[in-house]
Formats: sequence, structure tokens, C-alpha cells
Amino acid sequence: MTLRCCLCQETFISRKLLLTHERTKHRNNKTIPHFHLLLRPSFEQLISYQDAFIILIKKRLGFNRHSVGTKRVLINVFPENVFVYLFQSEPSFRYNTVLRKYHCTFKGEVGEQRLKQILNYEHWSCRQDPITKTTGYVLFVNYEESHEVTFSWTQTKLVENNRTFQCGVVTCTFTTDSGEFVNENDEKKLQESESHITTPTTKNNQSQYRIILPRSPLQQLFLDQKHYV
Ligand SMILES: [Zn+2]
Repeated sequence: MTLRCCLCQETFISRKLLLTHERTKHRNNKTIPHFHLLLRPSFEQLISYQDAFIILIKKRLGFNRHSVGTKRVLINVFPENVFVYLFQSEPSFRYNTVLRKYHCTFKGEVGEQRLKQILNYEHWSCRQDPITKTTGYVLFVNYEESHEVTFSWTQTKLVENNRTFQCGVVTCTFTTDSGEFVNENDEKKLQESESHITTPTTKNNQSQYRIILPRSPLQQLFLDQKHYV
């Protein structure tokens, strides 16, 4: 049996050799051969998964020494087209065709700002303890060191009663830290934002949700990033 590299058509006698070939010859590949099969996600679908990232990342932020370090967020069923739509324009976006795996990395202050645009939310990376005022946050720059946030999507199969269910798993890894806010304006803005987030949502979760995550239209955001506030 021969296997063909779908990026350059070279053939190999084993999957292992094909994998090695792709890792060396197409290490920075951005081409998605089946891209035409990926539907453009709906606006509602995008908002839903952007919110999922924001909420799950915020849940990993804490206010004491135990909440400092490397964290990982998993979303077990994540549509491939949503991942591609959110990240494919990024310089660090990569696709491995053999493993069916996407990877995207955000580093330093530039990465932090870019994720505000992609997730369409200013305060996605921090939360504040309303009593102690300590802030837990995703760490991007520490003294002279830069930290990364990585997003990866990989295809997996779930089997139940002899039926196979194919789905995508997203993993997001990042480093967290906590400390005191020094900028009063930032603190005020954060408090306002967080006070909405911690509001109990017993009924009509959906409409409450739109208020806690105020957004400008996504299309405008991607077309003209300067308008983003
Ligand atoms: Zn190739």
C-alpha cells in the first residue's frame, strides 16, 4: 500500500514515513486540501464558541498561589470550520494533513491584543476578586520573558454501540498568574465587566449572556481592526 502526500503528491510506503515527510517538508503548512468542504460558520455559532473560550479560560484564573502556572482548557466537541474560521488568518496557523491537526500560537503583548480581536472581548484574559481586588490573569509578558497561548484542534473518533462519531477536540494551553491592578481606569472597567459576569443568570440565560459579553459586529471587526474598542 502506498500513501500519497496530499500537499506535494510524493508517495510513501508507510504512514510513519509520510508523517516524517510532512513534518520536515511541510512544517509550516497552511494549506487545507479539503477547505472547500468547510462551511462558513454562522454568526451565532461563532459567538457561542468565542464565549466558550472566554468562560472556560476565565474559570481557570484564580487569586492565590495555587492558581499560578500552566493551565489547559479542553472542548471535546468543537466544529472544525469554526476553528479554521477563527484562526486561519494568523501567521502562526499550521495544519498537519496526516494527523488532521491544526495549531495556532499567540505570544507576548501582540498575541494578547490579537486574541482580544479574535475572541471579540476586551477582558477575556483576566478576572478580579471583588473583595481582595486581586486579579488573576493569563500571563503574556513577565519581566523580559514572553509567554504563549496555544490553540490546537485535532480530529478524534468516539465509538458507542458500534457506531463511530467523528468530532474535533480543541485544547488551549496558557500560563496564569495573579497580582494587584495598578491602573485605576483598567480596574474600574474590569469591575464593571466582572460585575456583569458574576450576575446570577437563573432565567433566560441567552439574553443575559449577550449583556455580559458586549460585542461589536464581528464582520466589521475583522475588516477594520482599528474600530475595535
Ligand atoms: Zn509532501
